[in-house]
Amino acid sequence: MTISLNVDLGDRSYPIVIGRGLLDGGFNLAEYVGGTDCLIVSNDTVAPLYLDSLRADLDGKSIATICLGDGEQFKTVASVEAILDTLVSVGANRDTTVIALGGGVVGDITGFAAACYMRGVSFVQVPTTLLAQVDSSVGGKTGVNHAKGKNLIGAFHQPRIVLIDTETLDTLPDRELKAGLAEVIKYGAIADADFFDWLEHNMGALLARDHDALAYAIKRSCELKAEVVAEDEREAGRRAILNFGHTFGHAIEHCQGYGEWLHGEAVAAGMIMAAELSGIDATATERLAALVKFAGLPTEPPRAGAARLRDAMGLDKKVVAKKLRFVLLRELGDAYLASDYDEPKLEKVLEAAD
Ligand code: NAD
Ligand code: MG
Repeated sequence: MTISLNVDLGDRSYPIVIGRGLLDGGFNLAEYVGGTDCLIVSNDTVAPLYLDSLRADLDGKSIATICLGDGEQFKTVASVEAILDTLVSVGANRDTTVIALGGGVVGDITGFAAACYMRGVSFVQVPTTLLAQVDSSVGGKTGVNHAKGKNLIGAFHQPRIVLIDTETLDTLPDRELKAGLAEVIKYGAIADADFFDWLEHNMGALLARDHDALAYAIKRSCELKAEVVAEDEREAGRRAILNFGHTFGHAIEHCQGYGEWLHGEAVAAGMIMAAELSGIDATATERLAALVKFAGLPTEPPRAGAARLRDAMGLDKKVVAKKLRFVLLRELGDAYLASDYDEPKLEKVLEAAD
């Protein structure tokens, strides 16, 4: 079964199509590519697995490809330049479509290159990690890292379509699947108590890569993200609730050195810390911790030291006028943005890192 959703952004609206085997002849992506030319950007790991299938979905198009190295360390201006060089060398014009095939790293780099080339050409997302399917491919944030910080260079550039083949998850390493589940749990926690409930009953099926369960979890996550993005595309306010657990999570990533803990793992522990800071009832926090644990994700921060973690939180680029902001919960399924928080409680929460 193929599921189709819409991200409602006026003349920049686009569909998210989710299904099993969409890359294996199950979808005619060529219909969504305006001109005749496209450039597929992928990496050394994903291209051998899915590039041929994707090419087959683009029947009749003239296709160029570029393969980047695999890893966050390639999320640089140099990779953007390599994509732009390729576009110039194949004589790409304003009608060229740039297609990202891979996880969030490939998606972020490719989207940014598409935003830059000739002041913006069409962009298609074919996300192949769970994290990219439920989070990074939707919403139009694109960009690369600077030596001084993650995602410091970027642009908003919405894709024309997001094509999600759940079959690509069959080859995803277990640890990456679980990291993606952290963001899925996040959506339930911040915006949909029924979905949270569903996750409690279906986490086993998700971990076993049951395709129907995965398709439903991806659909619900994308719907929730799309709603928030439609309301606040450029994060002037409400979109920030998508950062639930991320203030703590980014601090954990920073203290551990990026790469030691995956982003999703840091967010998992961070969500529990944020729930504790929220002061919601203990049963709700316990439910969150139990679900995170069931998903095989960490429920506590590493012993990096409370003081170090706190310093690292001050580095978060979302800090407004030196005051820390947190996404807190009123209850499971209901989040809000707070710059007012209980200082002694924050200290208590951070003690978990001592
Ligand atoms: P990733 O892109 O590094 O992918 C994880 C690993 O899985 C990589 O080694 C990749 O090559 C491999 N892989 C991808 N698909 C595979 C498949 N189907 N089978 C086997 N291996 C596969 O990491 P990610 O978690 O997908 O994305 C993380 C990035 O996303 C970060 O750079 C983060 O900043 C960004 N991000 C962006 C947004 C946004 O809104 N733009 C949101 C969240 C995260
Ligand atoms: Mg995240």
